[in-house]
Amino acid sequence: MSIEQNLQNIKSTLPKHVTLVAVSKTKPLSDLMEAYNAGQRVFGENKIQEMTEKHEDMPKDVEWHMIGHVQRNKVKYMASFVHLIHGVDNIKLLDEINKQAMKHNRVIDCLIQIKIATEDTKFGMSVSDAKSLLSSKPYAECSNVNIVGVMGMATFTDDKDKVKEEFITLKNAFNTFKENHPTFKIISMGMSGDYQLAIDCGSTMIRVGSSIFGLRN
Ligand SMILES: *Cc1c(COP(=O)(O)O)cnc(C)c1O
Repeated sequence: MSIEQNLQNIKSTLPKHVTLVAVSKTKPLSDLMEAYNAGQRVFGENKIQEMTEKHEDMPKDVEWHMIGHVQRNKVKYMASFVHLIHGVDNIKLLDEINKQAMKHNRVIDCLIQIKIATEDTKFGMSVSDAKSLLSSKPYAECSNVNIVGVMGMATFTDDKDKVKEEFITLKNAFNTFKENHPTFKIISMGMSGDYQLAIDCGSTMIRVGSSIFGLRN
């Protein structure tokens, strides 16, 4: 099926409050343009350099989401245009985003990545560390970053009950944070294999790659 058909199929099943991030990492510009011409404006990449190059080549009304692990020394390359950084998991990174955002006179929206999977390869903070960060002085002093929600990745497994449990953990963490941070609005969870379950568990933003663009090499 074509990229356009894949997009239409997915979008026809999504509730209105759920944003679809089309994950275009490793894919050529022609694929991104096919999605763009089908109306897609929100794209996700996991490498800053690749995202920066695509940003230069794509129409300027695309919203670019950085969904991967962020190296501090590369924040400067995306600070002028990135729309949302999903994977913030430490204060030093947040500080650097703040500094670079300031240079461009912007406030950059970020999500706190929470470690919900039991695999130890995944990045992210514990719920209690995230809570401390959110109420910390260093974060309060970051005037040019705005944490607007949470992001998480479930364990890579066929065990739906386990994945569901992890999604619910993230949803509960979001609810807890929201008590003190009423501007929280985004729960980024769910990928090609599990986005329906994620939506059932409260996701408001899904990051879908292979179901739109086909398998990656
Ligand atoms: C690649 C990636 C996705 C999309 O994965 P698919 O299984 O292709 O939908 C989602 N989130 C993150 C963080 C990714 O790196």
